Amino acid sequence: MKKIILIWDFDGAIGLINASYPYNFNFKNLQREQNQVKLALDILDEYGIKCCFAITGFSAEEGLAPYTFPALIKEIHDRGHEVASHSWRHEWSSIFQLNQVDKSLKRSQLALEKAIEHQQKVIGFVPPHNRPMSWLKRGAFSWGDRGIYPFFKAADNESIIKLLKVNDYRWVRVTYKTIFQKFFNLKRNPTGTVLNYKGVLVLENHYTGFDTFVVNHILNTNYSTYTISAHPLMLDFPNKKESMANFKQFLEQLKSSGQKIEFVKPMELVD
Ligand SMILES: [Zn+2]
Repeated sequence: MKKIILIWDFDGAIGLINASYPYNFNFKNLQREQNQVKLALDILDEYGIKCCFAITGFSAEEGLAPYTFPALIKEIHDRGHEVASHSWRHEWSSIFQLNQVDKSLKRSQLALEKAIEHQQKVIGFVPPHNRPMSWLKRGAFSWGDRGIYPFFKAADNESIIKLLKVNDYRWVRVTYKTIFQKFFNLKRNPTGTVLNYKGVLVLENHYTGFDTFVVNHILNTNYSTYTISAHPLMLDFPNKKESMANFKQFLEQLKSSGQKIEFVKPMELVD
């Protein structure tokens, strides 16, 4: 049985404010993102698929959509999907002090769990901007983190994983490339692997999008897990790998392949 772990990075207004291109922040895009989430929920229902939405904690605060949207988060939960933390305010946390990251983990967990009326524990963390990409113990170092360990403790995944454990998180999505892989340009599994690391389930690397490449990869290989990520807003961009057309084709092709494929929520893989 091939397991697909589908994770939506649901950034919300605070995510758009703190994304790399602040000029993207506008009311229309916020409404687009909300609409695409609702469309995605309907399609997921149609296929009977459960997946995970990693959401910024700020978005779960009391208030009005599209700026904050606790009701939509509750709906996501009620329709059977896992709610995970995508940090508090989509910060670039590799330049943060560890206690700031700690606050972000705690605050997002608190706000999200409140929005879903404590019907699910928030045990998953999807770091914004996929940072840090450095993990010295595993031979990964990235200048792109901007902060450098040991001056910035939060710029190393080892510290983040320790912090997650303290805060009762049980899984994390981590993106990195070892210096060895970079240097020799070694091919790795584009949809990543899942490993248990010091009591935390690490979803190591993932593929973003639903294009033909990833469909063929899933159908023509025999890994036990495939981690896919996407952004709801991008469903509304026809030329992106994460477009609605690709999403629908992805689901249809997997379904019609006749292969034993199931979608799982990351929390189901945690023992
Ligand atoms: Zn994000």
